[in-house]
Amino acid sequence: MRIIVIGMGPAGLSAALRAVEAGHDVRLISKGEGGFQLSQGTLDVLASLDGHQIDQPLVAIASLGPEHPYAGIGADRVREAVNWAAERIGPELLVGSAEHNLVLPTAVGAMRPTAFAQPSMVAAAATREYAVVGVRQLKDMPAELMAGNLGAESAWIDLPARAGEQDPTSLTYARALEDPEFADRFADAVAKAAPPGEVILLPGVLGTRPGTWRRIRDRIGREIAEVPLVPPSVPGIRLHDAMVAAIRAAHVKVVIGSRVVGFEADGDRLSGVRVGIAGRTRTFGADAVIHAPGGFSSGALDVDSYGRITERVFGLPLTADDATGLITPSWFDPQPLFEVGVRADVHGRAVNADNEPVFRNLYVAGDIIAGAQRWIEKSGEGTAIATALRAADGLAEGA
Ligand SMILES: Cc1cc2nc3c(=O)[nH]c(=O)nc-3n(C[C@H](O)[C@H](O)[C@H](O)COP(=O)(O)OP(=O)(O)OC[C@H]3O[C@@H](n4cnc5c(N)ncnc54)[C@H](O)[C@@H]3O)c2cc1C
Repeated sequence: MRIIVIGMGPAGLSAALRAVEAGHDVRLISKGEGGFQLSQGTLDVLASLDGHQIDQPLVAIASLGPEHPYAGIGADRVREAVNWAAERIGPELLVGSAEHNLVLPTAVGAMRPTAFAQPSMVAAAATREYAVVGVRQLKDMPAELMAGNLGAESAWIDLPARAGEQDPTSLTYARALEDPEFADRFADAVAKAAPPGEVILLPGVLGTRPGTWRRIRDRIGREIAEVPLVPPSVPGIRLHDAMVAAIRAAHVKVVIGSRVVGFEADGDRLSGVRVGIAGRTRTFGADAVIHAPGGFSSGALDVDSYGRITERVFGLPLTADDATGLITPSWFDPQPLFEVGVRADVHGRAVNADNEPVFRNLYVAGDIIAGAQRWIEKSGEGTAIATALRAADGLAEGA
């Protein structure tokens, strides 16, 4: 079948790869690059419920209400989905499991559970005896704050990545560390400055490629762990790049920088989507569409000045259409608005309030689906991948 996938976050990338592996002819269309490259470069399944950190995500999934995106999928299929994604990304970039969360330090010195992390990070899960080393020129890692909150000692190294540059980013350092000569100078400076501690915590900039950190660790001669910094995050970009490489290698056609603006339908079946490309609109025909455009944060769901909530491509029915009363005053409180979204049936098709498919061949995946406050629960990546596989595996249903 000709499948169009809309979106290039964890849901769209996973859906495209799963569908092409099943033998479909897949075209992925995305206006932007999606959530992986803004992420910590880890894969969260479920890390927090009712203000408590979760140790066993798959066990906790059983306690979620029926409206939650995981509820219709179940722990076994969630396990299968995230293991599938971790395998496709590869052990050079992701290790761990959804059985137990790893607990890793953040850039401000809090401890954060996650199911899968990069090999360059996991030494930090084995101890709490840290030494923190920051880079003077890289303002995104507040080494003293981090060390203070972790009860560790900190030190700085003074090592510009490029002469004369006033405001280097994480990517500047990650690219510079691909140069073996610079990587050796970096490692030697860290080895000299690092205070005592079982694991040296370093900014998450240790190369754009998966294995670069090992050379740095071996040269330092002590255990190290990367700590992801603010977006765009280098470890997140590594995950994104690995998934994009996988879909390209599998011959998914990728149209990036173009927004899906509408659709064409024949009765209860979609026949294609309309895409804004270079100042005009072009139609791509499809036998089925997997809609993975994210939620409010990606602009897929919109609230207008009257508080009316809409889904912007297909005008899909939502669990609520009025934002009034769904926004609480404090950013840190739960925001019921973010639970608003599209309902899906057991095959992943978008359904109306009577549980009937809106179109027989329109599937949804990721943040567009109602029922979770993903960034509070840390369930966004797991729900994106699990619902993507449900949609791709359900494609035969709409044929
Ligand atoms: C501040 C913040 C912090 C978060 N922290 C965490 C966390 O710690 N752990 C966690 O698990 N989750 C977290 N999340 C949630 C996580 O980022 C999302 O759940 C995840 O990215 C959802 O993946 P997705 O593929 O559904 O959507 P997205 O990653 O949002 O991707 C959507 C894609 O669709 C594209 N798109 C949108 N509309 C169109 C269109 N009309 N045409 C073509 N393309 C379109 C976008 O460009 C993008 O590529 C956080 C989210 C936010 C906002």
